[in-house]
Amino acid sequence: MPRTLDERRSLGGRLAVDFVNLGKVFSGSSPRPLSWERLITFLEAASVVSPERGAQLLALPNLDSRSSEALLSRAQRLQTALREVFSASVRRGRIAREWIGTINEILRITEGHDELVSDADAWRLEFVAREDSLDWLLAAIARSGAEILAESAASRLRLCGNPTCGLFFCDTSRTRKRRWCSMATCGNRHKVAAFAQRQTGRPTS
Ligand SMILES: [Zn+2]
Repeated sequence: MPRTLDERRSLGGRLAVDFVNLGKVFSGSSPRPLSWERLITFLEAASVVSPERGAQLLALPNLDSRSSEALLSRAQRLQTALREVFSASVRRGRIAREWIGTINEILRITEGHDELVSDADAWRLEFVAREDSLDWLLAAIARSGAEILAESAASRLRLCGNPTCGLFFCDTSRTRKRRWCSMATCGNRHKVAAFAQRQTGRPTS
């Protein structure tokens, strides 16, 4: 069952996790390289940019292809770095300095400050960039990834229990025993397979 971009986007529970998951097409295919359109659609769906700004950005490759290519390649490097870092983190493996370097590079160039903004009946913190360069578009993602790493075990970063899925998520369940990116897809598939196995007494896969 194919999922919509929006469903996949929200499964991870954190911006950087959703960004890494974006690179995975459903059902275990190898990661697809990030396109400009997917990047901008993601930033818009994640409320990093407004729909108006998103529409402007979608037209950018026709107006200033050098800027859009530079940002896309930086976004692709960030996505790869975060994927490697998350994979190593869930395996308790060694995290290579070069991956951290890519994240730090974006944290460094995107100076700015947080500001309180009113959001309906609540307040939230929003990052305001000092310069209006395109790189700030990746700042929130890099920071989200950095926070997950800095929180270490507390972030409860997990890889979906379905070995062909490959999606990451942050386990915010009370029991801390969430196994699947989504109960509706991977969890259900597991239940069906386990049921079939009980019926026939032999493995189905
Ligand atoms: Zn899954």
